[in-house]
Amino acid sequence: MEKFSMHARIASIVQEIPKSGIRDFFEIVQSMEDVISLGIGEPDFVTPWHIREAAIYALEKGKTSYTSNLGLPRLRNAISSYIQKKLNVSYNPKSEILVTVGVSEGIDLALRALLNPGDEVLYHEPCYVSYGPTIALAGGVAKAIRTRMENDFILFASDIEKAITARTKVLMLNFPTNPTGATMPLNELRKIAELCIEHDLLVITDEIYSELTYDQAPHYSIAALPQMKERTIVLHGVSKAFAMTGWRLGFACGPLDIIDAMMKIHQYAILCAPIISQEAAIEAIESGAPSLHKMHHAYSQRRNFVTEFCRQLELPFSFPRGAFYIFPNITETGLSSKDFALQLLQEKKIAVVPGTAFGEGGEGFVRCSFATSMEKLQIAFEQIALFIKERK
Ligand code: PLP
Repeated sequence: MEKFSMHARIASIVQEIPKSGIRDFFEIVQSMEDVISLGIGEPDFVTPWHIREAAIYALEKGKTSYTSNLGLPRLRNAISSYIQKKLNVSYNPKSEILVTVGVSEGIDLALRALLNPGDEVLYHEPCYVSYGPTIALAGGVAKAIRTRMENDFILFASDIEKAITARTKVLMLNFPTNPTGATMPLNELRKIAELCIEHDLLVITDEIYSELTYDQAPHYSIAALPQMKERTIVLHGVSKAFAMTGWRLGFACGPLDIIDAMMKIHQYAILCAPIISQEAAIEAIESGAPSLHKMHHAYSQRRNFVTEFCRQLELPFSFPRGAFYIFPNITETGLSSKDFALQLLQEKKIAVVPGTAFGEGGEGFVRCSFATSMEKLQIAFEQIALFIKERK
């Protein structure tokens, strides 16, 4: 009799996708003691007290039920005003906004709502770990467009144009970018918008780091450009800006028909985002600006510190203009990204993420998060300096 294999019964598409390179690596980190981690992409701050308090009050008042599938009307109103103010696009809170379980769910819903088998999705790489696998799980064909350090990891309309085929349906954008900290200049974003209109592409733009740009640089959303609102889904949430990763709360803003289609999947798969997190998000969005400002200030100082340190170490890098990551190039050490990260962890107890976790274009780089206290950053970068010196 043939040997029983459960693995063979798993859907082939799931067998084929890799596990996240970040998670694999952090299994090792967690099994070690006294490691300073610049690895996980989340704020080191706890959620500001006034936001936690809003959730506690909501619990005290007995708010423990399901909500509307779209999310609490008060939250959708708050999101609508916030997005109007921040991104300069107006969305009808009754029909053009869906509250999701993090931007993660928004990415999945948007792709599943739009893709037919074989439809191609373009996205820039190095990129957030979920894009390729989520496109594949939705039946799409993931087509990465390489961005490069020499160009500050900007995505060029001309590179998108070369990748467009008759099957291309969606372009995914993420600016500021995880893991590179790249932002998009408005003139290039305009060219991309024109290309999308010309080739009738839909756009999913993940703007989860939009509050975290530095040196007073404005954030531009492609949705705000002429004729783009009608073909764009904006994904955003409270995880990064308000230090709320564990609350699992995001939102999607887009054309009525697309939001309605996303809602259909959400309604059966999730039902609604947790009510307590929605209550907390109302407080964050309506009154969180001073807390955000304080955290932003801290990230900005840490960014100055890490960029100066990398400069002194003569590690090539592109200046992070947004998010909270620096993505230095470590090829001069003669190590691959993975070996660099593994050896640094074993020898110096410092965890960074191998650039290859973010796609092939990440070979030769490592991602260091500066959403970490200054004390820890200081120790971590001194150890990195030592590690590099030992290899020169
Ligand atoms: N999009 C990007 C670019 C991210 O970096 C992350 C988390 O690291 C997410 C989405 C996931 O966000 P959420 O916590 O809202 O699901």
